[in-house]
Amino acid sequence: MSSPERYSALKGVQDILPPDISLWQRAESLAREVFSRYGFQEIRTPIIEPTALFTRSIGETTDIVEKEMYTFPDKAGRSITLRPEGTASVVRAYVQHHLSGLPSPRKFFYAGPMFRYERPQQGRFRQFHQIGVEAFGVASPVLDAEVLSMLKVFLAALGLRELRFEVNSIGCENCRPSYRKALQDFFSGVREDLCPDCQRRYEYNPLRILDCKVERCIELRRGAPHVSDFLCEECKSHFEKVLAALGLLRIPYVINHEMVRGLDYYTRTTFEVTSEHLGAQKAVAAGGRYDRLVEEFGGPPTPGIGFAIGMERLTALLSEKEGVVEVFPDVYIAPLGEKAAAEGLLIAERLRAKGLWTESGYEGSSLRSQLRRADKLACRHVIIVGDDELSSGKVKWKDLKTGSQGEVEIPKVEEFLSSFRTDVG
Ligand SMILES: [Zn+2]
Ligand SMILES: [Zn+2]
Repeated sequence: MSSPERYSALKGVQDILPPDISLWQRAESLAREVFSRYGFQEIRTPIIEPTALFTRSIGETTDIVEKEMYTFPDKAGRSITLRPEGTASVVRAYVQHHLSGLPSPRKFFYAGPMFRYERPQQGRFRQFHQIGVEAFGVASPVLDAEVLSMLKVFLAALGLRELRFEVNSIGCENCRPSYRKALQDFFSGVREDLCPDCQRRYEYNPLRILDCKVERCIELRRGAPHVSDFLCEECKSHFEKVLAALGLLRIPYVINHEMVRGLDYYTRTTFEVTSEHLGAQKAVAAGGRYDRLVEEFGGPPTPGIGFAIGMERLTALLSEKEGVVEVFPDVYIAPLGEKAAAEGLLIAERLRAKGLWTESGYEGSSLRSQLRRADKLACRHVIIVGDDELSSGKVKWKDLKTGSQGEVEIPKVEEFLSSFRTDVG
C-alpha cells in the first residue's frame, strides 16, 4: 500500500482558524449592525461570473484585468472568472433584476471572498475577503459624505481611530479627456524613461501612471498636473459640496491629487482610508462614485457609489490593537461510569439550552484525565457526575478558578451555573 497523500492549501490562499476567526466575526457582525442603520441590505452574488463582466467594468487596461484575473474555461468552454471585486456583480444584479424601479437610493452590502491571481506576497492573497457597500440612484454629494461617514462610524465602532481619510475627484466623461491629454503632454518628453507598464498606460490610461509604485515613475511624475485643475463646473461643485459635508460631519480628510483608483469605472469622488500600521499595502478601505456603470451594463442612467473594506488588513489592525479575544467553555461535565454518562448527557443539553457553552467527558475516562482536559480547555466549572451522587439526586461541582467546590441538586444545576454568567459577557 502506498503512503497516504498529504494535502496543503493552494499557494496564496489561507485558512482562517480559531481564535483569529473571532476578529472576523466581530468585524462582520458590526458591519451588519452599522450598515443596516443606514439602510443597507445584504446582497449575495455568485463567486463566479462571465469573464466579460469584469473586463467591461473594471477596464481592459487595468492591472486587475491584464494580470490578476483568476480566469479559466469551464467544461463547456465558457470563460469564467472568480470575482476580483464586488461592485461589478452587484451592478449586474441591480440591472438584471430591474431594481432601479424601486425608490432611490437602493443600498446594498456584501461580504465574501474575492480572487486575484497574482504573485503571493506579504499582505496579498489569491483569495482575500471584502466587506463592501453600493448605493444606487442618488447623485447628490450628500450621499458621498454619508457613505464616508458610515465607513468612519464602522471603523470607530471597531476601535480604529488613527486612520487617514484621503479623497479626490477624478472628474467625469466630459472633463477627464482634457486631463488625460494634459498628462500625456506632461509625460511625452520622458515617455521612454517610464516603466514598461506605464509606457503602455501612457497610451491607454495615463491616469494610472499616478498610481504606479515604481520608484522611477514616482520621480518622473513630480509636478504632474492635478486633476482638480481640469474638473468641469459640475464636477468641481460636486467635489466642493462633498468636502463641505465632510467638514460638517467633522471627518478629517486630506485631498490626495494622485489617487485615481485602479479601476476604470470610477467617476468624480474617489477615496481611501489608510493606516500607517499596515506597511506598503496601507489602504484598509477604498471606494468612489461610478455614475456611468449601471448604464454601461444596459440599465437606465443611474449614479452609484460604494466602497470595499479589505478584511485581511482590517483584522490585522484589530489584532495589533487588542489581540484576539479568546472565549472559553463555561462548564465541563465529567461523568464517571455508564449511568452517569447518560445523566451527564441530559445535564449538558439542559445547560446548552440555557446558553452555556458546555463541554463533556465521555464514558471510560478517569476523573483525573477529565479534569486535565477541563483545565486545558480553560473551563471555569466542572460538574462531576458519579453513581453515588446520582443515588442522592446531586452532583459535585468544582470552580477551577477559585478552587472552591460543593454539591448541587441535579434540577438546580442550570440555576447555580447561570449565576456565574455575568463574568462571561
Ligand atoms: Zn466633469
Ligand atoms: Zn510605472
